[in-house]
Amino acid sequence: MPLPAFGPRVLLRRLREVMAEQETAQKKLDRIAALVASNVVAEVCSIYVLDDGDHLELYATEGLNPKAVHRVRLKIGEGLVGLIAKSAEVLNLSDAQAHPAFRYLPETGEEIYSSFLGVPILRGGRVTGVLVVQNRKPRRYSEEEEEALQTTAMVLAEFLASPEFRAEAAERGARKSRRLHLHGEGLNPGVAMGHVVLHQPRVVISNFVADDIPAEVARLNEALRTLRAQVDKLISTTGLAAQGEHAEIFETVRMFAHDRGWVRRIEETIGHGLSAEAAVERVQSDNRARMLRQPDPYLRERMHDLDDLANRLLRILTGQTGTAAASRLPKDAIVVARSMGPAELLDYDRARLRGVVLEEAGAGSHVAIVARALEIPAVGQAEYITDLVETGDAIILDGRSGAIHVRPNAEIRQAYAEKVRLYARRQARFARLRDKPAVTRDGMRVSLNINAGLLVDLPHLDDSGADGIGLYRTELQFMMTRALPRREEQERHYRAVLEAAHGRPVVFRTLDVGSDKVLPYFETEREENPAMGWRAIRMGLDRPALLKAQARALLSAARGRVLNVMFPMVADVEEFMAARDIVTEQLSLMRQMGLRTPNRVKIGAMVEVPALVWQIDALSRYADFLSVGSNDLSQFLFAADRGHPRLAHRYDPLHPAMVRLLDMVARTCLNDGTPVSLCGEMAGNPLDAMILLGLGYTSLSMAPAAVGPVKAMVRTLDRGKLARLIPGWLEAGEPLRERAALFARENGVKLYSR
Ligand code: PEP
Ligand code: MG
Repeated sequence: MPLPAFGPRVLLRRLREVMAEQETAQKKLDRIAALVASNVVAEVCSIYVLDDGDHLELYATEGLNPKAVHRVRLKIGEGLVGLIAKSAEVLNLSDAQAHPAFRYLPETGEEIYSSFLGVPILRGGRVTGVLVVQNRKPRRYSEEEEEALQTTAMVLAEFLASPEFRAEAAERGARKSRRLHLHGEGLNPGVAMGHVVLHQPRVVISNFVADDIPAEVARLNEALRTLRAQVDKLISTTGLAAQGEHAEIFETVRMFAHDRGWVRRIEETIGHGLSAEAAVERVQSDNRARMLRQPDPYLRERMHDLDDLANRLLRILTGQTGTAAASRLPKDAIVVARSMGPAELLDYDRARLRGVVLEEAGAGSHVAIVARALEIPAVGQAEYITDLVETGDAIILDGRSGAIHVRPNAEIRQAYAEKVRLYARRQARFARLRDKPAVTRDGMRVSLNINAGLLVDLPHLDDSGADGIGLYRTELQFMMTRALPRREEQERHYRAVLEAAHGRPVVFRTLDVGSDKVLPYFETEREENPAMGWRAIRMGLDRPALLKAQARALLSAARGRVLNVMFPMVADVEEFMAARDIVTEQLSLMRQMGLRTPNRVKIGAMVEVPALVWQIDALSRYADFLSVGSNDLSQFLFAADRGHPRLAHRYDPLHPAMVRLLDMVARTCLNDGTPVSLCGEMAGNPLDAMILLGLGYTSLSMAPAAVGPVKAMVRTLDRGKLARLIPGWLEAGEPLRERAALFARENGVKLYSR
């Protein structure tokens, strides 16, 4: 069996010598091709580089026609080289031309070569190129030769990702074509232009060679010990008394950390002469390549876990810890991450952070909530983005459409720069409206409030010039922490909110957990229909201790002030009364104990369940105010999951059925003299909000960024005229959106999007 001319360690050392030379990147690649050809005793060695996401370009060759360099380009999947890139697998053929994928490329002069060995160049599991050797005589390459090629491919992978190579390639114009256009899910609107900062900077391996194999194995074992201790600590601090799914995930991670098969593969790779970190990277690369081809989502998830673990191990071995938040950020940083906790996003310097792109987050994720609170454009579900970009790449993202442009060309940059300018002009216009009253042309005063839930939301109260906080989602504090916040912590939080409001009203909503808002430390059963399940006030009444503690925290925080508190998901008047009793009981207790209490306590209910609409008369006798949660109300009215992407645009909130229901709520409240407002997404859409004013709503609560556009609508609307038209529109039974838009156009009502 033919063996390489020299062993893997010698090969690695020579590769390292080539890398260290003061040469251009191109020369280094040429030298590597020659070195590999002599090591494997091959007549040809060629290096192909993936240059624009789906083309492989011949970058260097020993043996093929040198004129073909930078001219031969193959698509992924085209020819044997393209096949290797597509499958990320080795091809070892004694008669290459007999292979069905073989493609003859006349410019290379390769027709005379019979045997072929090609390996993918993998970085982080993604193919970035292909390394090939060829011989005239038919032969099958040995395992050792395959190994030598794979080792070289690993070194090449690092080299192709190095600034040195990238700068040279960019100069040659090759990278100019590496524009990428991706699509994710818009999480927070706005356009951001800037430069990529990888949240978890890639671990840079500078030492590939094991000078002393037993010493490298010892380093590996030491690092594994640290890793296992880290995993155990993680499990205990996240309270892995936690059960169910979380327990299972952590147990899998623990299992991997002790997995003999994994460790053995790393040790074997060290045995071939690689340093501990290079061996971990190599094994991880193979694992990731398999992961990307794995169709079973469960197994993919598990492989992901292993991948995270390998990353941790690499960080321990190289001492490169921490996220990019601690590094020097460019002034237009766009943070790109696979996933990220909400607190991690808050670690970034807000003055330099322009946007965030995530592979895994959806609109309801905590990090998306924080991005919205910080008002930075965000895109989620951006598949594989962390593998496709490097720190420093130019990037543009559109948080409304979910579009992402990596390394955009001048036209795209110009088009977006124009969007940014427009957006800035519009913002300036809204800022001018900030201190103007929200009064319609015919003199109706409208109260515009913001929805909030985090302390970072509070500055928006002043920036937007809103009248108050119409919905404070208290569950967000609970979702951000690893353990149930104690009563004192809740109280501190609520007091901070009230202080920031400077006397403007704040409506606190009691915990609305369950459904998609899960608390990791809170044990719940798996439910068939969680949105209609054990959630919100239902949970609060069944677990009164939780509601009692929250009521007490709210009452204490609001001492000497007015406390507005409301309950989510009330379906029945009895539920409201039971919840109200819990609050009033706490109030009496405090009085008995001689503690200071609020000057006034107003208790209200959210109208989110259609059944409650027909109980408003009865409810009005006990409730101080009502607030329509149109997101849930329309979800239950149309029986359409509000988070389902396929249903997102299926039912219009201005459907006559919904408008009639909202009309009924407004009329009944007006009759009963019960103050009512609306705090769902509709309130923040100027056209929808216009209809709400027409129905008689005079108080709305919305995302902070919507206050300007909605105020612009209010100030240009003749409410009386609109109110007279709506009954006719409803009678016609058609969706109101078109008619309403026409009305706005004809009557000069300003409708700006955020
Ligand atoms: C709603 O349901 O409309 C609402 C405002 O509450 P949330 O979006 O928090 O469910
Ligand atoms: Mg709701």
